[in-house]
Amino acid sequence: MSRFPLLLSPLTVGGLHLPNRVVMGAMHTRLETLDRAHERLCAFYAARARGETGLLLSGGHAPVPEGAMDEAAPVFDREAQVDAHRAIVDAVTRAGGRIALQILHAGRYARVPGCVAPSAGRARINSFEPRVLTLDEVRATIRSHAHTAALAKEAGYAGVEIMGSEGYLINEFTSTITNRRDDEYGGSFDARLRFPVEIVRAVRAAVGPGFLIIYRISAVDLMPGGMTSDEVATLARLIEEAGADLINTGIGWHESLVPTIAAAVPRAAWIDAVQNVKQAVSIPVMASNRINTPEVAEAILARGAADLVSMARPLLADPDFALKLRQQRSDEINTCIACNQACLDAIFSERAASCLVNPRAGREIEFGGAKAAQALKLAVVGGGPAGMAFAVNAAERGHRVTLFEAQAQLGGQLNMARRIPGKREFDEALRYHRTRLQRLGVELHLGRRVTADEIAQGGFDEVVLATGATPRVPDIAGIDHRKVLSYVDVLARGAAVGERVAIIGAGGIGFDVALFLLGDVRDATDVAHFRRTWGVDAHLQGAGGLAAPQQPVPPRREVHLLQRKPGTPGRTLGRTTGWILKALLRQADLRLHAGVKYERIDDAGLHLRDADGKPQCLAVDHVIVCAGQVEDRALHDALRARGFTVHLIGGADRAAELDAVRAIDQAARLAERIGG
Ligand code: NAP
Ligand code: SF4
Repeated sequence: MSRFPLLLSPLTVGGLHLPNRVVMGAMHTRLETLDRAHERLCAFYAARARGETGLLLSGGHAPVPEGAMDEAAPVFDREAQVDAHRAIVDAVTRAGGRIALQILHAGRYARVPGCVAPSAGRARINSFEPRVLTLDEVRATIRSHAHTAALAKEAGYAGVEIMGSEGYLINEFTSTITNRRDDEYGGSFDARLRFPVEIVRAVRAAVGPGFLIIYRISAVDLMPGGMTSDEVATLARLIEEAGADLINTGIGWHESLVPTIAAAVPRAAWIDAVQNVKQAVSIPVMASNRINTPEVAEAILARGAADLVSMARPLLADPDFALKLRQQRSDEINTCIACNQACLDAIFSERAASCLVNPRAGREIEFGGAKAAQALKLAVVGGGPAGMAFAVNAAERGHRVTLFEAQAQLGGQLNMARRIPGKREFDEALRYHRTRLQRLGVELHLGRRVTADEIAQGGFDEVVLATGATPRVPDIAGIDHRKVLSYVDVLARGAAVGERVAIIGAGGIGFDVALFLLGDVRDATDVAHFRRTWGVDAHLQGAGGLAAPQQPVPPRREVHLLQRKPGTPGRTLGRTTGWILKALLRQADLRLHAGVKYERIDDAGLHLRDADGKPQCLAVDHVIVCAGQVEDRALHDALRARGFTVHLIGGADRAAELDAVRAIDQAARLAERIGG
């Protein structure tokens, strides 16, 4: 008996038979910007279809060029494009799946000249000023959605999803924040709902019965003056009446000041808003946002909050999510850790998405997955992200792998990362690797530093050094004072830290240590606490689902975070998560210093010159050094001297700007090459 009977139960909706309730949500991957883009898209979706995903949703396609997310984003408005789309549909169908096309008009979020909106006003997150749609243009935009839906049907798609959430054009019409029109599409509540309702009707008229229409509703806007839960319920009912077969839910506008999908958001934090929609309609409803494990998804279905579960990033992380459920291998799911590092951060930096825990995502054509021509006996030294990922990928290709880790447990820097508030999802990456290593029969030697001689006696063909990086010790007088600790002392060795602290180095690790010292560890699991912290209505009912933010609580410590370079610290943090970290630290009264020059550390504290060159002493109990890292390659020369081919990966290869994305990607690519 499966542990996930509801998730694995079939459903027929809009004339379409789905084998299970796992849906891959739409995601703008920017794969279109890479070479062999079409081949990549086919391979990307086919992999997820082979993984038995119940239904795939494509990335958003604009019905008109001015509605595209950016100039490289896809527009589907011409007959001549149908054949290319049919090839994607065929690839999915051959792999046993089904795919619907998402129609997305980005409205005032479109990063294109000539973008449009219901009323005047630029979005905080877009530098392009929108032009106000005329009444004729509003009607033409409705028709353009119907036209794209008809093209999608011709291309063989199983249906369409109309994107009505996240603050894009349709959502802009439903809200007084962005709709101040005085024609039939603005003014009263009813008039503001006319645009989405007429789009659904027009799409239904264009595609006829028996073709799946999904409408993605903004279940909660998370914007001041946004819709109330009653208003959302009314819209949902009208959408059902207009001819939609299924309602998907979106959470928050992109410009909202509340995090919605980052790891700092508790799992299933938005389910009350989804349930509000579910209670309003008789058609099936789909839950989305911060649902990353089958346990969470099954609980949502069991609670009756939704009928299907949409997961976008989790299906980037593991294309075989549904297949593994059916095969009762859910402990082998490579779980999305909600880091955004290789997916959304990449997209918002105008790069193509991939996945931190699965570098194959979007790069399927670069990874054949074939067994190695020559099965080798391989030694891997270091059980951090790079070493574990290499060992798993190499063993999958048929190599015999032995992994040596000096610490008593696997994980390397992941064991430190998991201690930061909001980063407990790293536990899933540890669980995945441990399980796979065990199932693949990788020989593990933990808790002892292996020597070059021992490796030489092991009869290995080649050695992979994934020994990581060690903290850089900056050249500051008094750096060996008893007040000085490294981030490893604090995060891995549990060193006691005083009430007043200075952190040297305001990179990713410095910010993380600041949050560790100031933040609230409940953040990642306690929904009520999360809502209070971010000014979200306890029941998600009021306008936009917002409430007054909580009164600031007294900070746990006095923490100073310092860097030598001028400018605001935190520029290297993730595009989509750095603002969350900074907002939490602002609430906790973190004191930032830029442009400093360190002079010495002594009993009085940390002596420095501030940005104006004035001498200052921060009277702190501890100085924590987070000044970057240097490569740990202790074994390299000794192994080379013994004639080994030695491969360096992760921090051992290059510590500067090291992150787990690069470490795991490099590991997977080496595993793909080694042994031919
Ligand atoms: P980092 O981001 O390169 O930051 C190193 C910090 O140390 C900088 O602020 C630098 O600023 C300072 N520094 C460098 N050399 C110094 C010296 N000799 N003396 C004093 N200060 C010095 O490196 P990290 O913080 O170690 O992070 C490593 C990697 O992990 C990063 O690339 C990051 O991507 C990743 N990471 C990211 C996150 C996140 O985004 N939340 C969290 C953890 C780790 P100045 O030179 O201006 O003083
Ligand atoms: Fe999830 Fe991070 Fe992968 Fe994005 S990069 S899909 S957030 S694990």
